[in-house]
Amino acid sequence: MSDYTNSLPLLVTAIQNTINDNAEEVAQLDAAIGDGDHVINLQRGLDALSSMSDELAQMDWSAAFMKIGMTLMSTMGGASGSLFGTLFISMAKASKDKQCDFAGFAEVFAQGVESVKQRGKADIGEKTMLDTLIPVSAGLLSDAHNDVAFDSALNNAKAVAIAGMQSTKNMLATKGRASFLGERAIGHIDAGARTSQLMICAIADCLLDT
Ligand code: ADP
Ligand code: MG
Repeated sequence: MSDYTNSLPLLVTAIQNTINDNAEEVAQLDAAIGDGDHVINLQRGLDALSSMSDELAQMDWSAAFMKIGMTLMSTMGGASGSLFGTLFISMAKASKDKQCDFAGFAEVFAQGVESVKQRGKADIGEKTMLDTLIPVSAGLLSDAHNDVAFDSALNNAKAVAIAGMQSTKNMLATKGRASFLGERAIGHIDAGARTSQLMICAIADCLLDT
């Protein structure tokens, strides 16, 4: 795994495509147990990243993560804007002077997810994006420590992301807007868990192709 920032324009486009292709479904998920704006917030952030993706490709990974985080923070809005922003800003700090290889990325991503937990005062099992992010991060760390081949780890990450997203369906929500609904939230997948899964799968597919 070399410095992947030159793949960022490709990754941003792949992410935009998967979010646009599933926009209606995500809007419905957030409308069912939130206020319906999650996909619009995310699309706004991704449009901003897309317009600067050539610039991102010139940066080292730490600088690129910082620019991505600040951009998502200032353009997205919603709970997810500050949480996805926090993810990347924390990854920027963790990746400074760190080698951009698979094990390094797994550690950097774990730091980012840890910061999202702190920022949202949330953990696994609360029906949020963390139900996708935490198991994916744990799986990547474990695969990196066990020297699992990068391609296998990417396929594992996809499967873990899908299982994590699906796990939110029958959960009670204890964080975010959905927590106001009590038992009525049961039976609906969390929108942020779904978009996190879609983005992780798009990134993995992109890297598997290159
Ligand atoms: P808002 O809830 O402010 O309208 P969005 O609709 O953009 O923001 O994002 C909602 C998503 O944010 C939820 O589906 C959930 O995944 C995530 N979320 C909300 N609150 C938290 C939290 N405290 N911790 C982690 N994720 C959260
Ligand atoms: Mg919302």
